[in-house]
Amino acid sequence: MTAVRLAGVSCVFDAGGKPVRAVDGVDLAIERGEFFTLLGPSGSGKTTCLRMIGGFQLPTAGSIEIDGEDVSRRPPFQRPVNTVFQDYALFPHMTIAQNVAYALMVRGVDAATRIRRANELLELVRLPGVGERRPAQLSGGQRQRVALARALISEPKVLLLDEPLGALDLKLREQMQSELKRLQRQLGITFVFVTHDQHEALSMSDRIGIFNQGKLEQVAAPAELYGRPRTRFVAEFVGSANVMHGEIARAHAGAAAVMIRPERVRLGEAAGARASGTLAEVQYFGAFWRLAVEVAGGERLIADLPVALHHSAPEPGHRLHLHWDEDAVHVIAQSDESGGGTA
Ligand code: ADP
Ligand code: MG
Repeated sequence: MTAVRLAGVSCVFDAGGKPVRAVDGVDLAIERGEFFTLLGPSGSGKTTCLRMIGGFQLPTAGSIEIDGEDVSRRPPFQRPVNTVFQDYALFPHMTIAQNVAYALMVRGVDAATRIRRANELLELVRLPGVGERRPAQLSGGQRQRVALARALISEPKVLLLDEPLGALDLKLREQMQSELKRLQRQLGITFVFVTHDQHEALSMSDRIGIFNQGKLEQVAAPAELYGRPRTRFVAEFVGSANVMHGEIARAHAGAAAVMIRPERVRLGEAAGARASGTLAEVQYFGAFWRLAVEVAGGERLIADLPVALHHSAPEPGHRLHLHWDEDAVHVIAQSDESGGGTA
């Protein structure tokens, strides 16, 4: 059962007489109960796409269905969706309980029911007992939970989340990631989540749609995106990638390019090496060393060596021999040939 369907959806803005195609012909079906993430760089059209699903922005072309109904021309309050914004957008003069119960008040639900439901929702987001406080008396992470409770109280079929964890520090962010995932599982609501953070997207999502300049480049489950990116853009945006066009790509018939993930590259003997070159740079990442090796033709390959297996890294300037298994090579059928060799 499809929860959200976009068919040929575009949004063109007029930026001082010059048209900007913020979203460009997007077709997408998000299943009911799915945790779906829109992932892409800044300016790629993620927010505009989410705003069109929420009804805050009308598409220039195409149609949007929610639960099988065409909502393309409906205002936000007539769509079975709710939105959590990055800046929380809580009402500062209201108590936390009033903030959470706001949607029920607007609907004319009686005070006793409102208070009961607000407390239930605060319990759900693990914030019991703060109902009488004001937003200013809570931490950023707590305000984020309140925003979530407020969006969930009206029992939306689809919850839209636009970089909701963007303002939190790393530790809190990771905590909220598993919390959000838990809530989504527990409630069974469809989540459409926007982020520019690939780690966040990979760890939370059932499926991910990769945005690039207003277009959807690929829609797939995290492991599929990482292991079998369709385009160079996806290969380089999701994780680090060695993308090669030269001899190594030509060895694979019909390939525009091939990709090898840096963790699949090993050091070894000269005999049987897939490539050899000079170590240009070493970076330490705690769990692994990242080696940049300059091979014939000036291409740079990166190899991530687990620190658990390599207590030290070789010095720059050394000649290294790189090995990888045949199944580490992924053929990229489509490549724009732009940009550098690695990312
Ligand atoms: P993202 O959320 O992926 O960062 P956005 O959807 O916010 O991207 O923006 C996509 C493109 O549309 C950008 O080039 C942005 O500058 C442009 N844009 C967004 N909103 C407007 C607007 N109201 N008027 C003009 N251009 C806009
Ligand atoms: Mg955005």
